[in-house]
Amino acid sequence: MNGNVCVIGLGLIGGSLAMAIKHEHPDVNIVGFDRDDNNAHLAKILGIIDEITPSIEWGVQEADLIILAVPVNETERIIAELANMNLKKDCIVTDAGSTKGSVARAAAGLLDKGITFIGGHPMAGSHKSGAGAAKRQLFENAFYLLTPAEGILDSDINRLKEWLKGTNANFLLVTPDNHDLLTGVISHFPHIIASGLVKQAEHYSTRNPLVSRLAAGGFRDITRIASSSPEMWRDILIHNKSVLVELMDNWIDEMLQVKDLITSEDRVGIYRFFQEAKEFRDDLP
Ligand code: NAD
Repeated sequence: MNGNVCVIGLGLIGGSLAMAIKHEHPDVNIVGFDRDDNNAHLAKILGIIDEITPSIEWGVQEADLIILAVPVNETERIIAELANMNLKKDCIVTDAGSTKGSVARAAAGLLDKGITFIGGHPMAGSHKSGAGAAKRQLFENAFYLLTPAEGILDSDINRLKEWLKGTNANFLLVTPDNHDLLTGVISHFPHIIASGLVKQAEHYSTRNPLVSRLAAGGFRDITRIASSSPEMWRDILIHNKSVLVELMDNWIDEMLQVKDLITSEDRVGIYRFFQEAKEFRDDLP
């Protein structure tokens, strides 16, 4: 494809998307904006973008595709600003945020102005951030959820997929609310548990220094995601509040049942708890 792309937020995700787009569509001109000047310059030096735009307003006016890859709070704020800027009529606006319901509601203003907004969530990443961590192949074979509002044309969804073809991701269409439920269960809630486990270890390590020394192997594996950006995860929890509160209630019930099983030394019940989890885990694709 030919044309202009504007990437706002040149971190891990924005940078990786820009690289994948450039690889698939070498003739495209990619301009980028980041509130952190050093990061924007790094993205330019690394060849992730062709030009730094001095402002969002300047960068988006000729864009055929606008990608918002900033924390979700900022996404909502910038979407509201975009609704009052001069955009090309057939421009597509997408985002990369990890929650979609509140972004979809914020995008209603853009849709009212006839601008196509299609929410997106490339489901790959890492605990690293910034342009220096960006990789062209980050999304290879990962799921890439798209959350178009009702009424968005198939031709526009296909145009966005064509733009993003270089990610080699598997695109799936879901509603914004279903997205938030799915990601709440398989990503956001596990993140809370991982950080909770680390905090528990920290608590015990003040009394027993061997805790830190022995927290290797399995503990490091299951808590790897606790090293992710606190800013990003704060926003995710707040933006997926209702789903996460429900999951937390279910989790507390489940843990109280496990506590009862342990207290009463219910060998059958404890075995069943692990066996059922193992069966589901072993059957995962
Ligand atoms: P990151 O910290 O690597 O990059 C975000 C960049 O946005 C930073 O360079 C920051 O300076 C910039 N930024 C913040 N506010 C801005 C603003 N108002 N204007 C311009 N630039 C601004 O973070 P990331 O991992 O690339 O995450 C970006 C988005 O992608 C988030 O919404 C996140 O939910 C989503 N996401 C992250 C992952 C992951 O694993 N990291 C995976 C999928 C989706």
